[in-house]
Parts: sequence; C-alpha cells; structure tokens
Amino acid sequence: MKNSKLKTPIKKIGVLTSGGDGSGMNAAIRSVVRYASHNGLEVAGIMRGYQGLIDDDIISLSHRSVSNVINKGGTLLKTARCKEFFTREGRKKAAATVKRHGIDALVVIGGNGSYHGAHLLFSEWKVPCACIPGTIDNDIRGTDATIGSDTAVNTALDAIDKIRDTCTSMERIFVIEVMGRDCGFIAIESALGGGAEDVLVPELKFDLRKICERIKKGRLKGKISWIIIVAEGAAKAQAIAAKITKITRLETRVVVLGHIQRGGIPTAKDRILATRLGSAAVDLLLNNQYDKAAGIVNGEINVIPVREAIKKKDLKVDNFYRLINILT
Ligand code: ATP
Repeated sequence: MKNSKLKTPIKKIGVLTSGGDGSGMNAAIRSVVRYASHNGLEVAGIMRGYQGLIDDDIISLSHRSVSNVINKGGTLLKTARCKEFFTREGRKKAAATVKRHGIDALVVIGGNGSYHGAHLLFSEWKVPCACIPGTIDNDIRGTDATIGSDTAVNTALDAIDKIRDTCTSMERIFVIEVMGRDCGFIAIESALGGGAEDVLVPELKFDLRKICERIKKGRLKGKISWIIIVAEGAAKAQAIAAKITKITRLETRVVVLGHIQRGGIPTAKDRILATRLGSAAVDLLLNNQYDKAAGIVNGEINVIPVREAIKKKDLKVDNFYRLINILT
C-alpha cells in the first residue's frame, strides 16, 4: 500500500508480543495499556503473538490488568513463533479476528520477524500496525537499543564474572557461548564489559590459529587464564574449545549460557526504553501513522517505516574488537 496514513479515528487497539521473549516486554505492555486508556482507547491483549490472532485468543486489558508487572521478566501475553502466519491464508485468518473484535489497530512488540509479519498484515489486509523492538538481539534499525538487550548483556556479564573467578583460580581457558544468531551485539558488549580476552561474532571472520598463537605467547609471559566469548551465530563453543585444545594442548572448559539471557528482572534501561516506546507506539496509532516502527536514537523517539526497520542492521564491531584485543 502506497499511502500509509489512513484517516479513520481509532477506538480500540490490540497489543501482542511475538518471537523470542525479552525482559522489559511487560513494561512495554503496561505502557501501551495505560497510555491508550488515558487517551480513551479500549485495549485488547492478544495471547501468544500472531498465534493468538489465528486462534482468536483475545483478552480484555485495563489499567489494573497491568499492575505490578513493570519489574517482571517474560511477557504476560505469552509469546510464540507461529508457522501459519508465514502463509497468506494464515494472515487472512488473523485479519478476520482483528475485524471480528472491532480492533482498529495493533501494537506489535517483537523482533525482526514480527516486524515483517506486521508489515504484511498491513500491506495485504490493511490491518494498521505500529511496531516497537522487543528482542534481546538489538538487530533492528532505527533504534539504538531494543527492549531486552540491556538485561541480556547484564545477565551474560554476571555469568562471565562468576566464571572468571573459577577461570583465574583453576588457570583455565573458558569458551562461553552467548545468544546472537545473526548479530554479535550481546557477545561484543559482554566481552567488552566482562574484560574477555577474545570474542567471535558473525560480523567478523576469525582465525583460530592466530587466537591459539596469542594464547601460547600469553602463556610464555605468565598469562594462564582466558575467556573467549562466542556468539552462537559465529561458531559453536564446544567445537571452538576442542580445536583450541587440539592446537595448544591446553585444557578448555565450555559454558553455553542459553536461555538465562532472555529472562530475569529487567534493567532500569530496559524498563525505561519499554515504557517510552509503548507510549510512542500508541501515539503513532492515535495520529493515524501506520506501518511505522518507533525506536530511540540519541535519547529521542525516532520513527521509521517498518520496511526500513527490517533491513539488516549494520553493527559496527571493528573498533570494539580492536579494543578488546589491545586490552587483553
Ligand atoms: P527474535 O529476534 O527474538 O527472534 P522475532 O520477532 O525476529 O524475534 P521470529 O521467530 O523471526 O522472531 O518471528 C516471530 C513470528 O513473526 C514468526 O513466528 C512468524 O509468525 C512471524 N514472521 C516472521 N517472519 C515472517 C515473514 N517473513 N512473514 C510473515 N510472518 C513472519
């Protein structure tokens, strides 16, 4: 659809969380519900993301429904990855549910894939959507941070700090795998913040032989413990550790942090980001600005078309990577 500005006033909105969960999603839902209610809108909660639209799993949300959730991880609306929504037929069913419930527009809280789905729902079936970034990956354009990414980095850091204690005491090499299939954000940030000796990210080619050379040279100078952070999209920690042992003949240990990075009490940064973006999304809908994504850039609300937000984010890792290597 060429014109993304439709002029019909909205009375009722729906809100959903979709894709992987991240801490701060509840704070975003709370902000959407309360800001919308303040502006005289009715709010429907859609359970399990797009799956709830297809299954007609809708609840009514009021100011009180979101009491005491700002500090809770996860999402009270649940979330899911929904195969059927990839099909035009699935999206048609979803649009029919929206219409049946008298929902005029949707706030979609999710990652890249969820944005993609929202864009299709609008372009194919004219369901107006506003998107805000709820994903630990920080891989969405038009925002400096995504909801959940700061908590994920802090959780990884907490684990790295603990591993460093045993790493130093036992004088070992630890390879720690963090989340990030296509994006090295969590790996780079936690490596910088955790004082890791090396980091492998999908954005940069790595040479394991060179890493092993550095480990061996370090040994000669008396450096015996190493922490190497690996983004899951760059390599598998287990395989990297095995190769390091083979090349250096030194013992290695592997820790895969996994899903602990998604949960937990959201950091102040994530709660504030979520709260600001939740209200920004409602503002977009109130102003009949559809198919748009809200983010925060340099402290200010930033709005771009959803089709721009879903283009691959160019994470600048070179300088950070260089710094990590200098400081080792
Ligand atoms: P995260 O970054 O945490 O993985 P995400 O939103 O990117 O979050 P996805 O699993 O990629 O997570 O997408 C969530 C859901 O959005 C999918 O399960 C699907 O229902 C819908 N979706 C994703 N990509 C598309 C697409 N190309 N077309 C239609 N729907 C899509």
